[in-house]
Amino acid sequence: MTQLAPRPWLLSEINYGFVKHNPYQVAVLPMGATEPHNLHLPYGTDAYEAEAVGSMSCEKAWKQGAKVVMLPPMPYGTETNMMEFSMAMNLNPSTLTRVISDIVDSLAKHKVMKLVVLNSHGGNDFKPVLRELADKTPVKIFLCEWYRGLSADVGKKIFTNPDDHAGEMETSLIQFLKPHLVATDPATGKLLADDGSVAKSRFDAINKGWVSITRPWHLLTTNSGSGNPHCATAEKGRQFLEPVTDRFASFLVELSASPVDEKFPF
Ligand SMILES: [Zn+2]
Repeated sequence: MTQLAPRPWLLSEINYGFVKHNPYQVAVLPMGATEPHNLHLPYGTDAYEAEAVGSMSCEKAWKQGAKVVMLPPMPYGTETNMMEFSMAMNLNPSTLTRVISDIVDSLAKHKVMKLVVLNSHGGNDFKPVLRELADKTPVKIFLCEWYRGLSADVGKKIFTNPDDHAGEMETSLIQFLKPHLVATDPATGKLLADDGSVAKSRFDAINKGWVSITRPWHLLTTNSGSGNPHCATAEKGRQFLEPVTDRFASFLVELSASPVDEKFPF
């Protein structure tokens, strides 16, 4: 992709000459992971998705007047239950807490008082971080996990199989965003992936969701995939991203325009 000029909604591209005279109101921090995704998707899947949702949304919001900037995406996440798979790269929850906390301190110093953590990886757990930092920083922190509430109704309309990890939704997104990184059989064009079936626990309460655990992924899945990817298409990925980034962008526009007063965010 060739860009003719730096995009002012991406901190990695913009220069101090611009930033000096154009203060931002809102920062978006995409949080990814480095982990296997069945046999066919790249280790960077979650980070690519976070970057795409973040940059498309920030672009739309910027073009509607929002003073929003996407910080460089974080490529690592929590993988404590994925470590039996080769080259899953773990940052412990306490490490991620420190990362968010230090970035929040930097934003406070630069007087950017609103941060949206844009999470792309189910193994990252940021609500405790928001709680811990709530009375320790003047920065107002928001959490958006784009694959949950933001997109749930959109996903239900587009995808046939319920998704978890490396299933139809993630495969469609990477087919749209990075088609050259999706492994297919050259003869048939079919995905080189298993069907993403998952094992049941011996405990019914766990299968029913009454009791939760951090699932040992090597016992749960065959090749790390949980969710069937075989109905995925790039077009489904495109159809999903458009409304989801429209929605997220409209929140960023409102957030940018909203002063941090006594009653914020009420
Ligand atoms: Zn993923």
